[in-house]
Amino acid sequence: MAKLEILTYPNPVLREVSKPVTEFKSELKKFTDDMLETMYESKGIGLAAIQVGKPIQLLVVDTRQKDEDGRRYKYDEMTELEQSIVQPLILINPEIIKGYGKTTFDEGCLSLPSFYETVERFDKIDVKAKDATGREIKFTVDGLLAICIQHEMDHLSGTLFIDHLSFLKSNKIKNQIKKSGYPDKNNKDDDDDDSGSARSRKKSKESIKS
Ligand SMILES: [Zn+2]
Repeated sequence: MAKLEILTYPNPVLREVSKPVTEFKSELKKFTDDMLETMYESKGIGLAAIQVGKPIQLLVVDTRQKDEDGRRYKYDEMTELEQSIVQPLILINPEIIKGYGKTTFDEGCLSLPSFYETVERFDKIDVKAKDATGREIKFTVDGLLAICIQHEMDHLSGTLFIDHLSFLKSNKIKNQIKKSGYPDKNNKDDDDDDSGSARSRKKSKESIKS
């Protein structure tokens, strides 16, 4: 496996529309493994193929927490539906068949490191997709997993979470990045002292990037 380079805004590739996957060969499995490694090493909970420069409709997600030995586990705050889904989840050519209700969450993105904003999403979704072998899968999920899938599916159409913000807020972030770039990466691991911000789960900022 190999860690891939994650593209960051304003790289124009992130605005490309990803194409459906038509062939499920061994290269796809290898690429999926590399995506998972890249996501885990970057401490993200989701990653879309376009974020590593490949415009295909493929995303990987893992919202489970990690214990001291690095093992992933399902935690109490996960909803019943989330717990029923086997993770990591690999979704190819995903579609949201139906969305229910609304929820908000402070989202981050590996392609916009160190920025976090509240975004509104469906609370629950019916999803249809293919797995890495080309088999069709269908499921219903809510909670953080549903939010993360919607965030990743946005990437497949060239949309970033900042596009969901007000024009003013979105422009402020875009201008800040274009003018000063991203904050120093060396400081990002100390970035857990955000106890004052509204968050629906007690998770550090580092664990909710996708
Ligand atoms: Zn993202």
